[in-house]
Amino acid sequence: MTLLSIEALEVRYGAVPALRGVSVTVGAGEAVALLGANGAGKSTLMKAVIGLVRPAAGRILFDGRPLEGLRADRRARMGVGYCPEGRRVFAGMTVRENLLVACWGGGRQRAQRIDAMFAMFPALAARQGVLAWQLSGGQQQMLAIGRSLMDAPRLLLLDEPSLGLSPLLTDEVLGRIPAIVAGGTAVLLAEQNAAKALGVCSRGVVLKLGQVAAEGRAADLAASDEVRAAFLGG
Ligand code: ATP
Repeated sequence: MTLLSIEALEVRYGAVPALRGVSVTVGAGEAVALLGANGAGKSTLMKAVIGLVRPAAGRILFDGRPLEGLRADRRARMGVGYCPEGRRVFAGMTVRENLLVACWGGGRQRAQRIDAMFAMFPALAARQGVLAWQLSGGQQQMLAIGRSLMDAPRLLLLDEPSLGLSPLLTDEVLGRIPAIVAGGTAVLLAEQNAAKALGVCSRGVVLKLGQVAAEGRAADLAASDEVRAAFLGG
């Protein structure tokens, strides 16, 4: 079943076109890698889905319903989760508080969700009373992801979680994606690190200068010269 359907999306910043006729789908229970170099349009696509930028043309359907005209908070309540680039955790709040403020549910649901997050990110469970600024970069990224999962979204838009992380921590963070999907949340993962992203996703879409340059099964893309060319800007 198609959960997210983006059709012929156009986004401009003033006169600058950021997305030019981009179509992408994400199925329920699927992780899709959105690849591309700096400035290719990955963040813009995610912002259009959550409602932070307004498309000039095209359609975005979530679970068959058009998102056009809905505010970001309404989209979130429909089940669209968003973890923006740059792990914006609440630095002066504890790990536990960071998670709790992101849950709209009642007491029982909050307790269940926080348990689920600590099971998914054991490093956070061990540091739940620690202030977020005291966490390592990798732990902050896991907290940012955990926070965006607190309301059990049906889709998570995960923007460049490896930014600024060591290769080892990148593996650890991206390595959680199959568990997120197994927990019932489909993932659209924006990454510059193509090889690693394709390693944890079943499909991939490569953006280049605001257009889809290639797409297909993760294994096929990982072996493709075209993908290498797109990343090298050739
Ligand atoms: P990055 O990995 O650097 O985040 P990206 O693939 O996510 O890159 P976008 O951030 O979506 O790319 O940017 C796509 C294009 O839109 C780029 O040319 C960028 O310079 C431009 N752009 C992005 N945000 C703005 C903005 N607020 N105002 C003007 N132009 C913007």
